[in-house]
Amino acid sequence: MTAPEPRRDTLDLIGNTPLVLLRGPSAAAGCEIWGKCEFANPGASVKDRAALWIVRDAEARGTLLPGGTIVEGTAGNTGIGLALVANALGYKTVIVMPETQSREKMDTLRALGAELVLVPAAPFSNPGHFVHTSRRLAEETPGAVWANQFDNIANRKAHIESTAPEIWEQMEGRIDGFTCAAGTGGTIAGVGLGLKEFDPSVTIALTDPHGAALYNYYACGELKAEGSSVAEGIGQGRITANLDGAPIDTQFRISDEEGLEWVARLLAEEGLCLGLSSGINVAGAVALGRKLGTGTRVATILCDTGFRYLSTLYNADWLKTKGLPVFPWLAQ
Ligand code: PMP
Repeated sequence: MTAPEPRRDTLDLIGNTPLVLLRGPSAAAGCEIWGKCEFANPGASVKDRAALWIVRDAEARGTLLPGGTIVEGTAGNTGIGLALVANALGYKTVIVMPETQSREKMDTLRALGAELVLVPAAPFSNPGHFVHTSRRLAEETPGAVWANQFDNIANRKAHIESTAPEIWEQMEGRIDGFTCAAGTGGTIAGVGLGLKEFDPSVTIALTDPHGAALYNYYACGELKAEGSSVAEGIGQGRITANLDGAPIDTQFRISDEEGLEWVARLLAEEGLCLGLSSGINVAGAVALGRKLGTGTRVATILCDTGFRYLSTLYNADWLKTKGLPVFPWLAQ
């Protein structure tokens, strides 16, 4: 094994994450299921990549000037990525987040030095929604730019230019399918577009949680949500600019229970502590592997670390209040 190249700049620690073969999911699907370890980024999530690309894009456009402020509305992980990138480059960050997100994300953002603005959870049509609030704050703050991760395609460019080529290289060009869920859609669209550039026959599948509208959109052309999910960071109700033109060949809908089962199994059997979007992605990858058949090779995204959810996913009381199964080792 060769050691990773030394880096001369902390920002170069973003990306180039390892890819790991997932034993249990591979056995369940009868094929190879590979997980891209995005929790290994400095901010412990896939969103560090989008944060870096968005900031570099704003600098290149001349909208973000030295000492400027980056404002963003986020479920948390993009804010954490932006705060780290901003610290490394001398910018300030103002992060607007729904108050329903995990305590750990709020504490982390404060610890990193971001200014945190909490707003009540509201539908996108409500002007108080965290995305609209962040846009207004950016407009009102002198020297501020709005990162606008949902509709700024610098987000998906991060995955076209980094995640997709990394997966292609790590799988030595032998990949039959890729799947993940969408929050902004940057990852699924960017990796999908990037992999199709290498090989148009790679199957790109959307894995949608309950409560999101994209499954129905790709299945029958109608944006319609059914049910609900406690997964943070995923579940989209509209076609964002990042999702526009995403090459989705097929789609799966995965429940929180199915995702949680993989979160529990990956921790108990393979020593990986992940968030729920990773569990949902793995359940989607198993479904895609079964569809593509024995001997195929499928990749998915392990989006963030489970340490970010100790007060929720890994807390028996919280799981019970949500009516979700409690991991056996938490039940005593
Ligand atoms: N999982 C988690 C935990 C996230 O925070 C996000 C980002 N919102 C995603 C998945 C989805 O990534 P994307 O925004 O690229 O669709």
